[in-house]
Amino acid sequence: MRKVIVVGAGPAGLAAAESLLHRGKGKVDVTVLTLEPYLGGSAASFTTSDGRVVEQGQHIMAGFYRELGRLLKRAGVPKEETTVSNRGHMRVWEDRDQQTHDLHFGASSVGALFDGLRYSGLGFGEKLGFGSFMARMIARVMGGVPEAWDDVCLSALCLELGCPASLVATNLFRCSREAQFNYPGEISAYSVMHTLRELARDYSTSEVRFPAGSMSDIWWEPIGRRIEALGGRILRGWRLVKLQHDGQRLTGLVCDQIDQRSLPEGFLEPPFRIVPGSRRVWTDFDEVVLAIPAGSMQRVLKYDPVLRDMPGLAGVARLTTVAPMGLHVWHRQAVTRGPRTLVAGLLPPMAIALDNKPFNPAYRDNPAFGSVLHFVGQETGFEDWTDEELLHRAIRGIQRVDGYEGIDLEGVLTYKLVRDRAPHRRYWLSEPGSLKHKPQPVTPLVGMTMAGDWVRSKADFPCMETAVRSGLHAADIVLKAPTRQRHDALAGRAA
Ligand SMILES: Cc1cc2nc3c(=O)[nH]c(=O)nc-3n(C[C@H](O)[C@H](O)[C@H](O)COP(=O)(O)OP(=O)(O)OC[C@H]3O[C@@H](n4cnc5c(N)ncnc54)[C@H](O)[C@@H]3O)c2cc1C
Repeated sequence: MRKVIVVGAGPAGLAAAESLLHRGKGKVDVTVLTLEPYLGGSAASFTTSDGRVVEQGQHIMAGFYRELGRLLKRAGVPKEETTVSNRGHMRVWEDRDQQTHDLHFGASSVGALFDGLRYSGLGFGEKLGFGSFMARMIARVMGGVPEAWDDVCLSALCLELGCPASLVATNLFRCSREAQFNYPGEISAYSVMHTLRELARDYSTSEVRFPAGSMSDIWWEPIGRRIEALGGRILRGWRLVKLQHDGQRLTGLVCDQIDQRSLPEGFLEPPFRIVPGSRRVWTDFDEVVLAIPAGSMQRVLKYDPVLRDMPGLAGVARLTTVAPMGLHVWHRQAVTRGPRTLVAGLLPPMAIALDNKPFNPAYRDNPAFGSVLHFVGQETGFEDWTDEELLHRAIRGIQRVDGYEGIDLEGVLTYKLVRDRAPHRRYWLSEPGSLKHKPQPVTPLVGMTMAGDWVRSKADFPCMETAVRSGLHAADIVLKAPTRQRHDALAGRAA
């Protein structure tokens, strides 16, 4: 029986653990160690004692999230019952004409990418320019996305490929940057073009789906139960602080246990208490899958000069991470209903918002809330703003949107701002030039495989689907590479 420890229980770690057990067919013993008391990592959420759902940040599931859908299905979670579709609709506030514009994606494959042509925020000439630019772009990305595109920012590449300059200045365009947390900074063209490629290849449905409830409850805990039903163990509240190794092979995981009794309701925020004397070194394993975020990995490597400078891991310290924010506003006033509930192009730093009232069964029939708005963004440039100041700004931004005029400060019943500042919650940025710093799944240390949305993969852009695919890939590597020779071959070194 091979013993595998998976560190991290976000989408990547859960996918890796489930796959190891499912495909290992009784021959793999899996233990998951994870820092937080809940499953789902950056995509986790919890329900407050009075029934309100708080997420780290609103999550959407795009049509091409094939592997996440399959994982949920294996865990007995019906996608149709736990998510609600936007039926291809979203709305964008454009600063240049101070109006809200509808964007409706059609129902078919590549054609959906041309639906921008129907976007009323573009002039006639811009639409023609946009159409021919998209045709050229799709033809290019379908042939593969060159890694050299990581060295240029999205705007520069688009202009080079004939995109009208005025389009680059629209909020419609800005959304692609903000969806990856790259505001106010630039974004890697490679990363965005990968998303476009996925859309063009597998746009089986043009809708995006929103979770109908607390994601940890409806998705990640059922996956955790499946892992346990397959014989795996999930140990929560263990923080990996250090890796033990002899320079060649991973030999131990040094972990501290979080004092769960010290935790208030909500997400795990430092400072949290460590159980005195709880430090434990796990050595009883054949392989480890590290599925922790970039911020946590930077912390683990920081005090280990050998690992820190090792080829393949040396770039990790150079990745930029930011603190995402999720602002939840429970409001008295109802807003425009139906699928047109996703709004983008709002005032930074929280420029994307969604009304959860029609999606979440806990809110849908609850007359106490007219709308339940959830804004997403990241805090660069706004670090010193108080929660209240950020609330005021978000309200000011959204009340300009057609149908949201009644959203004012007076109608706010309650609000909660989640700032993901802790190292384990910070998010890596896909800025130009970052690709070369990302680690490969096969690391220089024998016995250590990496997974996560920030680890190199075939789908090099940040989202839950990438994380799940990366976890599945890590499981593949572990199942196929038990020996030193295989490891070296995979790592591209002479055995
Ligand atoms: C605000 C916000 C909004 C987002 N919106 C979307 C969206 O709409 N759609 C989408 O597809 N994606 C979205 N994402 C991205 C998505 O959440 C991530 O891509 C995904 O969660 C990454 O999964 P992961 O398993 O790689 O890492 P994570 O989800 O970060 O999980 C990491 C795991 O490692 C554990 N861990 C961390 N440090 C340690 C340590 N030292 N020791 C032990 N365990 C540790 C954590 O507890 C956690 O279980 C969003 C992210 C954020 C922050």
